[in-house]
Amino acid sequence: MFDFQRITHETDLYNFHTHTQYCDGHAAMEEFVTEAIAQGFTHLGFTPHSPISVESPCNMVQEQVQQYFDEVERLRRAYGDRIHIYNAMEIDYVSVGDGPAADYFQQLPLDYRIGSVHFIPAIDNPSEMVDIDGKFQQFKHRMVKHFGDDIEYVVKTFFAQMMAMVDEGGFDMVGHMDKIGFNASQYCEGIDEEPWYDKLVIDLFENIMDHHLTIEINTKAWLQRNRFYPNLKYFGMLKRFNAPVVVNSDTHYPTLLNSGRLEALKLLSVL
Ligand SMILES: [Zn+2]
Ligand SMILES: [Zn+2]
Repeated sequence: MFDFQRITHETDLYNFHTHTQYCDGHAAMEEFVTEAIAQGFTHLGFTPHSPISVESPCNMVQEQVQQYFDEVERLRRAYGDRIHIYNAMEIDYVSVGDGPAADYFQQLPLDYRIGSVHFIPAIDNPSEMVDIDGKFQQFKHRMVKHFGDDIEYVVKTFFAQMMAMVDEGGFDMVGHMDKIGFNASQYCEGIDEEPWYDKLVIDLFENIMDHHLTIEINTKAWLQRNRFYPNLKYFGMLKRFNAPVVVNSDTHYPTLLNSGRLEALKLLSVL
C-alpha cells in the first residue's frame, strides 16, 4: 500500500489526483508539472481516468497507456530534481471483477491506484452502465432516461458500488467518496441531510477504515460549488477516527492545482 502519510506529514504542497491529456484533462502533463514547481509543490501524482469496459469519452484508451508511462518517465528525467512525479491512475469500479482489483490494473507498474465510482447500472437494465458524475443538466436527463426518476435508487446504488469496490480492493485511495451527493442534492434538495443517506456515508467510511485505505478530501468543486467530497460535515468524523486523509484538487487544469486545497487543510486543522 502506498504510504501517502509519510509525504502529507512533511508538506501541504502535494497533489495525488491530477488529470492528463490522455483522459479528459485540459492541458499536457508537462504544464501541470511546471505549474506545480512554480507553486512550490514537491509531490505530484498523475491519475488519468483508467481504460474502461464501457463507452466513455473521458477515459484513457488502453493503446495509450504505454505513451502515458513514457511521458511520466520523460518528465521525471526533466524535472525529477525539483519535484517527485508519480505514475498512477484513477480506476473506475464498474462491476464485480471489473475494477481496480482486475489483473490488468494489478499488473500495470503504477505507483498507486485511486478507486472511484462514476458509473452505476440503469434501473431496468443492470448491464447498462450510466455516468452519474457529469454536469447536473446531463444528470437530470439521465434520471428520466435511465433511472425511472428514482433518486433513492441512484444514491443507494452509488454507495453499494462504492462498498463493493472497497470490499474487492486492489487500490490505495478512495476517490471522492460521496460525490453523488452533489447531483442528488440538486435533484432533490435536502436528500443528503436525511438519516438514511447519512448512514450510507458512515457505513462506507467504516468499511474504508476496516480496509486500511486512504481517503481523499476532493476539493475540485469547492471554488464553484462550495462542496468538498466528502462533505464538510464529515470532516469531524475523519478527524475523530484519525482516518488517513489526503487533500486533492482532482484538477483538470494546471491553474486549479491548488484550488480549494488550502481551505480544506485549514478547516481540517481547526477541528
Ligand atoms: Zn473522479
Ligand atoms: Zn478525477
